[in-house]
Amino acid sequence: MAALVASAHAAVGAAKVALADIVAAGLSAPGPLDHVTGVILITQNIAGFRDVPLAALVERALGGPKVFLDRDTVMAAIGEGTIGAAKGARDFVYLTVSTGVGGAIVSGGKMVRGATNTAGELGHFPVGFDRDVRCRCGSFGCVEAYAAGRNLAEAYGVDDATIVYAKAAAGDARATALIARAELALSNLAVGIVNALNPERIVVGGSVAEHEPAHTLEPMRRAIAERAFKVPAAAASVIPSALGGDVSIIGAALAARDRASGGGQWFL
Ligand SMILES: [Zn+2]
Repeated sequence: MAALVASAHAAVGAAKVALADIVAAGLSAPGPLDHVTGVILITQNIAGFRDVPLAALVERALGGPKVFLDRDTVMAAIGEGTIGAAKGARDFVYLTVSTGVGGAIVSGGKMVRGATNTAGELGHFPVGFDRDVRCRCGSFGCVEAYAAGRNLAEAYGVDDATIVYAKAAAGDARATALIARAELALSNLAVGIVNALNPERIVVGGSVAEHEPAHTLEPMRRAIAERAFKVPAAAASVIPSALGGDVSIIGAALAARDRASGGGQWFL
């Protein structure tokens, strides 16, 4: 929290404005969380971080702007939907392929939240039957277990997925097989998204997608063209994120602006 507050002060300083002039701030965090109350419910990666009223705590520490919290992938979808690659689309899916795999769904011009605000966690859509491919969520065969950068690196036995892609490019058979499996997982997810949700666009962001479009976006496009239902397949395009690595931060700023002004009904 101290780091969050320090980064807010640094950003305000760099922009040469006074904190007192800032009306609202957006906070992007991994879920599950409650975006209305600003409470982090639980985190996968920080032990003991449970039912933390993060928005209120940061708001108090900043002592000025109203702070609004939402899930990182939801913030990314707000960014892409407002000024990015999904601008103008009423039905789109944001998918990030990075250290992990995550997403957010906008259907009929409205963010799909689900009963407890976890809808859109597409990284944990099960696409494989192999019980040995364990996922951190406790299940097996999740998209994330095959296609996330962290999982690819772990499966190969290195620290960074870029090494696995480099090995595959150099002809390493084990790296090639792991990447083929990751491509198939993303392809199955893409076909499922198109058949189940009929989106106009699937916007794909995240560092792995950004650096390896031929192994992420391309196989998704081919799979949709080859084997998704024809009518939704013809309507769906798979496109890269327009906002890049800062997508969730840009989305958080836009969300804060809209919520502070009483708007943002489409994503609330
Ligand atoms: Zn999972």
